[in-house]
Amino acid sequence: MRIPFIKPDITQNEIDAVVDVLRSGWITTGPVTKNFEEELASYLDVPKVACVNSQTAGAELVLRLLGIGEGDEVILPAYTFTATCSVVEHVGATPVMIDSQIDSPEMDYNLLEEAITEKTKVIIPVDIAGIICDYPKIYQAIENKKYLFKAGQNKYQQLFNRIIILADTAHSLGAEINNVKAGNIADFSSFSFHAVKNLTTAEGGAVSWKKNSLLNAEEIYKELMLFSLHGQSIDALAKTQLGSWEYDIIEPLYKCNLSDIAAAIGYSQLKRYPKMLARRREIIRKYDEAFRALPLSTLNHFKDGQQSSGHLYFIRIDDFNEKERNEFIIKMAEKGISCNVHYKPLPMLSAYKKRGYIIEDYPNAFNYYKNLVTLPIYSTLTDTEVEYIISSIKKILK
Ligand SMILES: *Cc1c(COP(=O)(O)O)cnc(C)c1O
Repeated sequence: MRIPFIKPDITQNEIDAVVDVLRSGWITTGPVTKNFEEELASYLDVPKVACVNSQTAGAELVLRLLGIGEGDEVILPAYTFTATCSVVEHVGATPVMIDSQIDSPEMDYNLLEEAITEKTKVIIPVDIAGIICDYPKIYQAIENKKYLFKAGQNKYQQLFNRIIILADTAHSLGAEINNVKAGNIADFSSFSFHAVKNLTTAEGGAVSWKKNSLLNAEEIYKELMLFSLHGQSIDALAKTQLGSWEYDIIEPLYKCNLSDIAAAIGYSQLKRYPKMLARRREIIRKYDEAFRALPLSTLNHFKDGQQSSGHLYFIRIDDFNEKERNEFIIKMAEKGISCNVHYKPLPMLSAYKKRGYIIEDYPNAFNYYKNLVTLPIYSTLTDTEVEYIISSIKKILK
């Protein structure tokens, strides 16, 4: 049997939707993207959503909108994908990396609170594997250190008058806690629709902000659209309407809009998404049940009134070091099963070593990584494949 690590869940619906756009005469940002945004907003129960062409672009736009730059500090976990951190570098601010809690991929919130200085402007928590972070703790840390906060010239910094939370929700579309979805918890959230994510547009992303916040939804949306499309006063579609050719450029801004071709895939996926999520959760329960008797630990995807989005399934094999873990992955590959590791902590990567981060400062992140294996999990994974993965793991560990 051959089981890839990931397979996008594409049906005839997605194919037909893309063909419809191709035949429509309008293929870049237009009506389909706007529909997708509306459906997403209603799914997340937020006032509005702004689509862009990646999570990375979305998070970077929010940092720019908030006026984050040189001299500012942005707090984020050491245990994440590089995109969480690279956007901080892109805007010229300083990333402040936080170690994990013991035996958890989640930031240590005591260390987080200690790391807050008068330069801290934003915190970027990451809902790793689709499990929602402890946002009440993060808001509390911000409150406890509020006396240090100094708003810059930026109007949003002044409006919030405290550190702003920009969640990396690349993994957590559909995750919920006490019936509130990821995307409606942090001040801002940034989703990814990259090919390996739960819901895909091949490449794509979206920004949301929680409801009942101080923000004016229409205003933020307009600003994000300006930022994503050259700072152009009207979009390309509006320019095609009866004689309205004229536009202005408010600022020389960025270019990261989502095309209608991509949005068509997302729109079709979103209609099927509750079923896709249910399948992921079913697989998690099968894995959880089978692994209970084995010498390994797993994450709790259903803790404290929470349902994760089931984006990633980690196993951490008791007493394994990095080398033994790597050998295990090779043995799985020999059985035809592709596994992965999420993540090599940022301080172990050349780019961040060069910037002076050292893994010795992040012992919990290293310990979490060293014996971790990510198993295949996706909505098209069959019961037979799940059984085969489970039986292969049992054989190898024997
Ligand atoms: C995939 C991913 C991203 C980046 O998403 P893109 O849409 O490819 O920019 C960011 N953060 C995490 C945790 C991810 O897994």
